Amino acid sequence: MDDQTRCVITPNVKTDGFDALGRAVYRASTIVFADAASYANRGQRGPDGYSYGLYGTPTTRTLERKITELEQGYRTLLVSSGQAANAIAILSLLKEGDRILIADAAYPPVRDFANNDLPRFGISAAYYDPTSPDEVERQIDARTKIVWCESPGSTTMEVQDLPRIAEIAHRHGALVGCDNTWATPLNFKPLLHGADIVTEALTKYISGHSDVLMGSITVAAETHYQTIRSTMGRLGIGVSPDDASLVLRGMETLGVRMKHAHQGAMAAIAWLEQHPLVERVLYPALPSSVGHDIWRRDFAGASGVFSVVLVPKAVAHISAALDTLKTFAIGASWGGTRSLVAPMPVKANRSATTWEGDDLVLRMSIGLEAEEDLMADLRRLLATIEERIDLDRSASRVHSASQTTNKKGNENDQHQGIHAD
Ligand SMILES: *Cc1c(COP(=O)(O)O)cnc(C)c1O
Repeated sequence: MDDQTRCVITPNVKTDGFDALGRAVYRASTIVFADAASYANRGQRGPDGYSYGLYGTPTTRTLERKITELEQGYRTLLVSSGQAANAIAILSLLKEGDRILIADAAYPPVRDFANNDLPRFGISAAYYDPTSPDEVERQIDARTKIVWCESPGSTTMEVQDLPRIAEIAHRHGALVGCDNTWATPLNFKPLLHGADIVTEALTKYISGHSDVLMGSITVAAETHYQTIRSTMGRLGIGVSPDDASLVLRGMETLGVRMKHAHQGAMAAIAWLEQHPLVERVLYPALPSSVGHDIWRRDFAGASGVFSVVLVPKAVAHISAALDTLKTFAIGASWGGTRSLVAPMPVKANRSATTWEGDDLVLRMSIGLEAEEDLMADLRRLLATIEERIDLDRSASRVHSASQTTNKKGNENDQHQGIHAD
């Protein structure tokens, strides 16, 4: 054999006896076959066989298996992001003329996808109040083929009565899909509560370190697995084994991270709830949160993501106050080791329900930092808002005084100009 050829060919070394705890990163586009007949028959290798890197490697299969076991489903498919999981599950299972009913508090990009892309395929979308199975019953029709749930809902955190919704959907011949990203399969298993499809943004808690994007679709039945898998093949969708390996590694600590995040969230919420600037905290583990009883009935726990509704006079000062944070980072996505906060507008993402609070809600994700540092940040956040409200108040007093005494008016108006930015 020529050296040049030797450089190309990978020699076989012993792998038995190398029993590492983690799964190696198996990189491949090409999979080679022992003979021409096996190549010709590669299509018959079945869901556990290997034929081409796009359709699975031992690394991605390991992650699929792990998620399937947690969700207690039939099989899992991996895609490039949580949003892709939602979009591909929906797109694969619907056809021209079909209709999907979507929970009004669903992850906003799902609404975007349903309003902008589904109509191009002749599929229509309608929205329902996530807290009202009766509304699902009223809206569902013969064309409705999927009822899409997300429990709790994005930002506003309504917990849905999945068993009741599933009963209604199935009676009308529709499937139920559920985005389970907030709970993760540790705290809720939608397939055991009537869903046919469950999606997870592995990007969030399951990978847990804010450094990888991936999503999963787990189905309860073989037929849906075949449908989604073949659509994915035709669309050319698969994930990298390097990314899958990151998710596998992060996932090993999911249980301790989730428990810690829940405890941290409870401590933060206990302080926030008694603060005069806080109108409400939205978090399924709180008795005041919408669907708390259902959460108690169906969920095993809560994660560390919650939303804070501030009193109306505080809202104008949120941006300035966020800039004083030291430990919390400002950013979207969540479920990593770093605590995050993001102001989220609600109203533009609701059409079947009316959001009564202020449009801007603070969504927080508790990470792994020391509780005292996080609490110091929260105190700083609300103290800054308080100071700015006080400054506004004194500025408007000065302003109204200036309107009654026109001699000093100019000088006082200048003061107001300093305070109002
Ligand atoms: C973040 C999120 C997604 C999307 O995840 P990506 O991997 O960022 O696309 C989907 N659903 C919910 C509920 C999410 O919070």
